[in-house]
Amino acid sequence: MLKVKKFGGSSVRDKERIFNVARRCVEDYRAGDDVIVVLSAMGDSTDGLLEKAREINPDAKKRELDMLLATGEQVSVALMAMAIDSLGVPCISLNAFQVAMHTTSTYQNARFKRIDAERITHELDNRKIVIVTGFQGINKYDDLTTLGRGGSDTTAVAIAAALHADECEIFTDVDGVYTADPRVCPSARKLKEITYDEMLEMATLGAKVLHNRSVELAKKYGVDLVVRSSLNRNEGTVVKEEVKVERMLISGVTSDKSAARIALIGLKNEPGIAFKIFNLLSKKNINVDIIVQSIGRDDTKDISFTVNQSNLKEAMELLEENKTKLTAQRVEAQEGVAKVSIVGAGMQTNAGVAAGMFEALYGVGVNIRMISTSDIRITVLVDEDKADKAVAALHDKFIPEE
Ligand code: ADP
Ligand code: ASP
Ligand code: MG
Repeated sequence: MLKVKKFGGSSVRDKERIFNVARRCVEDYRAGDDVIVVLSAMGDSTDGLLEKAREINPDAKKRELDMLLATGEQVSVALMAMAIDSLGVPCISLNAFQVAMHTTSTYQNARFKRIDAERITHELDNRKIVIVTGFQGINKYDDLTTLGRGGSDTTAVAIAAALHADECEIFTDVDGVYTADPRVCPSARKLKEITYDEMLEMATLGAKVLHNRSVELAKKYGVDLVVRSSLNRNEGTVVKEEVKVERMLISGVTSDKSAARIALIGLKNEPGIAFKIFNLLSKKNINVDIIVQSIGRDDTKDISFTVNQSNLKEAMELLEENKTKLTAQRVEAQEGVAKVSIVGAGMQTNAGVAAGMFEALYGVGVNIRMISTSDIRITVLVDEDKADKAVAALHDKFIPEE
């Protein structure tokens, strides 16, 4: 069997954890499997690198940030190779260049285009454990890129797809995917299985247990993912196309505190305004989320939407610069907001889910600032300091106790 095993930062944070991972990989190798290990940077060292960059230059170029951040994963793979080697098993560490993991050129938020299989295959054929850096790639300028925070999951899935692996396991510091973040909601429980579509919504809406693009890729290439703990042997959660277990109305509740709201006030009520606004933002690769347009009055209208906090400054500068062209009287930004969502394929066939959600929020006095829906989720924007309370109330309301 060809296995891809990805271990997150907490799973390799120190010597003891590195050897724990090394032993788990060696176990599979000795059982006869081909093993590819994908690693994140140790502990929260990526945050540490970002902090260092900020100290030197708060407006550092994205290219240079990627050059810096890519070092974190390189530390992990080199140390892991040394650990596995000390256990007497042949292995080799490889970075994005050596594998040749090609991405788009968007620094800080690159997407995989192609992964060359030759080098990894060659090393596996020589019966080596292959240890690959997560999170990084190379672009057409031969520069290093990174895939966005949490992107090592995506590296694992992309490699599993490119090499047609039999198994792709994502090892982390919780036992699997829960009905809510177990650190925020103690009554959350582990799901045995979840569909790609539901997991994609949850990952996009704040459940950082999986990078959302890893789920997108897994769905596209039909890679079954298993999310499990690196610290025990519990079963974990399988992410796949269809699940057998009886469908719950709601599979999960998520919150995302990295949201910010932008409002353009007093826009001309004429065709083409929305196009101009969002075209401007998309050209700069700024993703927008919940979009609300007010009903026109006195020939003007307002448009508000959310962006990730990390894009707020750039988005505001861009909109201010183009204020006149966009016909906006004012551009306003609001931080301190959070997205809270319920996700579940079951809501497609059940009326009253939205009403139930709003009732639960009303019950704990949480005010709703914006609402957005898809066929399998409902998202509301609330004040950030109310987000945890909102998650708990929604979990109580929708997730039956075991
Ligand atoms: P890693 O470093 O292994 O990639 P992450 O910190 O990126 O780990 O993701 C694991 C974390 O995701 C958990 O510690 C947990 O707090 C958080 N999390 C958020 N939502 C969920 C959820 N629904 N199920 C499980 N974990 C979740
Ligand atoms: N080290 C990167 C990060 O902290 C990638 C990852 O952990 O998946 O975001
Ligand atoms: Mg992660």
